[in-house]
Amino acid sequence: MTPKILIIGACGQIGSELTHKLRSIHGQDNVIASDISYANLDIVNSGTFEILDAQDYTSVKICIDKHRINTVYLMAAMLSATGEKYPMKAWDLNMDSLFHVLNLAKEGFIKKLFWPSSIAVFGPTTPVENTPQYTIMEPSTVYGMTKQVGERWCEYYNKQYGVDVRSVRYPGIISWKTLPGGGTTDYAVEIYHKALVDKSYECFLSEETALPMMYMDDAIKATIDIMHAEPEAIKIRSSYNLSAISFTPKEMTESIQKQIPEFKITYKPDFRQKIADTWPNSIDDSKAREDWNWEHSFSLDDITSEMLSNLKQVKEKAV
Ligand code: NAD
Repeated sequence: MTPKILIIGACGQIGSELTHKLRSIHGQDNVIASDISYANLDIVNSGTFEILDAQDYTSVKICIDKHRINTVYLMAAMLSATGEKYPMKAWDLNMDSLFHVLNLAKEGFIKKLFWPSSIAVFGPTTPVENTPQYTIMEPSTVYGMTKQVGERWCEYYNKQYGVDVRSVRYPGIISWKTLPGGGTTDYAVEIYHKALVDKSYECFLSEETALPMMYMDDAIKATIDIMHAEPEAIKIRSSYNLSAISFTPKEMTESIQKQIPEFKITYKPDFRQKIADTWPNSIDDSKAREDWNWEHSFSLDDITSEMLSNLKQVKEKAV
């Protein structure tokens, strides 16, 4: 099957980079980008783009018919920190959008579906170190609840209706091309911007808060690897644990200071600290490594080098 792809939420942090990568693999004409607004002109102007509300079933179906789509990546969601401000909106967006594409897949309009889950599916009663694939999951944020329930529905649609849905639990994603969209791990991107401009950063998490993180290139690779794997290889149809590295704000500061010795950090934990305290410190992703040969490439120092050199170039061009 030649993939004819629709990305929903293509203007966001992950969707935008996924769009470019999928276009480089499958060709510009085979990858349709969509979002609820023209928030990312780079994406809007770089190929076919549709304004699409993921909560509007009819619009999604019309777009799929119009472009003869067979593969969907649903990247639209409200993330953890914003979701705590607007709990019902987060629930409605995250659940409506998932049900629409699951039902379109059940009805045969979509042949293959990617939907990302998150480490937010875990909660305060989950073992925090090397969190296993199968463990206690009692998420305490609305965002985490939508991801956990979403996982159950993905598995249900696969088992009951044969829907080919694939998913990973992304950790915090670090990238330089776009700003993150309102998550608890956003400090790990903001810190690099501030390190270059102000040589200082006030962190909204405490210095010893360890969280699982991943460089964008690794996240995109995981997303494409799981979608390209043979269906028999995908044994878990809820969502796979996915991991690269874990670090604290203090360790990240030390990594930055290797390149910017004068960089200083202060700590002023806010409401996001409470969310981070319920999430794992590190993740056991051995099932993804066994089933579809997942492996990551970027260490913390690699990420620091990539982020600082790329952001420096962007800031120099902007002057
Ligand atoms: P983001 O907030 O950067 O992007 C989401 C995009 O969805 C935005 O461009 C937004 O305009 C769009 N959108 C919002 N409402 C929409 C609607 N009704 N219809 C269509 N589009 C709509 O998010 P992201 O960081 O790119 O995350 C993508 C996915 O990955 C989400 O499911 C998120 O939960 C998951 N995830 C992200 C991270 C991370 O660190 N970024 C970590 C874990 C999981």
